[in-house]
Amino acid sequence: MPIPLLQQARIGAYVVRQHLAGRRRYPLVLMLEPLFRCNLACAGCGKIDYPDEILNQRLTAGECLAAVDECGAPVVSIAGGEPLLHKEIGAIVAGIVERRKFVYLCTNALLMQKRMGLFRPSPYFVWSVHLVGDREMHDRSVCEDGVHERAAAAIRAAKERGFRVNINCTLFNDAEPDRVAKFFDGVGALGVDGITVSPGYAYERAPDQAHFLTRTRTKQLFRDIFRRGRGARAWSFSQSGLFLDFLAGNRDYRCTPWGNPTRNVFGWQRPCYLLGEGYARTFRELMEETDWDAYGTGNYEKCADCMVHSGYEATAVQDAVRHPLKALAVSLRGVRTDGAMAQEIPLDRQRPARYVFSRHVEQKLAEIRITEARSKESTAA
Ligand code: SF4
Repeated sequence: MPIPLLQQARIGAYVVRQHLAGRRRYPLVLMLEPLFRCNLACAGCGKIDYPDEILNQRLTAGECLAAVDECGAPVVSIAGGEPLLHKEIGAIVAGIVERRKFVYLCTNALLMQKRMGLFRPSPYFVWSVHLVGDREMHDRSVCEDGVHERAAAAIRAAKERGFRVNINCTLFNDAEPDRVAKFFDGVGALGVDGITVSPGYAYERAPDQAHFLTRTRTKQLFRDIFRRGRGARAWSFSQSGLFLDFLAGNRDYRCTPWGNPTRNVFGWQRPCYLLGEGYARTFRELMEETDWDAYGTGNYEKCADCMVHSGYEATAVQDAVRHPLKALAVSLRGVRTDGAMAQEIPLDRQRPARYVFSRHVEQKLAEIRITEARSKESTAA
């Protein structure tokens, strides 16, 4: 079972409590990025294009756990950068598990076997291994040969030691439905417990700008993939059926960016995991002072093609809580892969993109230099 009953029950109870309390906006998954440094440089990644001074920054274990407490989400996804490069990653995960939150440790798996001894199997801990296809597809996507083989070996080793292991699979416009379906067929043989799938976000700083999906192509691609797997029922997705149904063009969802709030070395990122348009000092400031209506497909140019799980999974979960029979119907019948698609969101009133990356980088560099100068002064004194 991709999501164990304990986890389903705890998250379901949390969501129902938020609804009963009348909360309009609440977090579901904290996206924790304790560092941006990575040991790969994937073509579609827009997360690591920073100067060394920023790549050398780390959130401490204390800062990470304070963010977990401040946010209160029942699930924490540790991303980055490559989290296994962080010296305190064992303490960060142990602290989150101690709080009885479900933690997904995202990794490219290059250091997984070496660092596995830092972690213990637990119902609250899941390895989330980046794996996007067969050997050729994966190694091409991460721009390095041999990574698929090492990831597969690490997954086998983790399963032998009793860990839960998921794969996270990001697709671009060169994905071939037949190959992706065969890849999903094959991951069971590796012992993988669940699959998380998403179209890639069109990061403005990613080196490869040629392979991002438009919404129209995304929907057709997922229909073509799910059709080969009995409407997605052939595979163990660790995502809600309604989100998969959205990917196949059957739902006209709006995103829920506050569902996956993001904390990284800049602060609490506005508005979402994918876009760094500004930073709040506290979680409360993020939730209360972000102009949420300024974002989302149809509102902002940078959101035009987004169908990413970190933006829309929370929408699907809330829809499932409000309409459980609709969710049940999709899980029983599978995702519909033919017929008319839901109406697309018009883009004629979206505001134009703002390019703020350089300003944030300059501000952060100034902060780092001031902190370093003060620390040198106090050491000298
Ligand atoms: S559509 Fe929503 S989730 Fe996607 S980039 Fe825009 S604000 Fe973020």
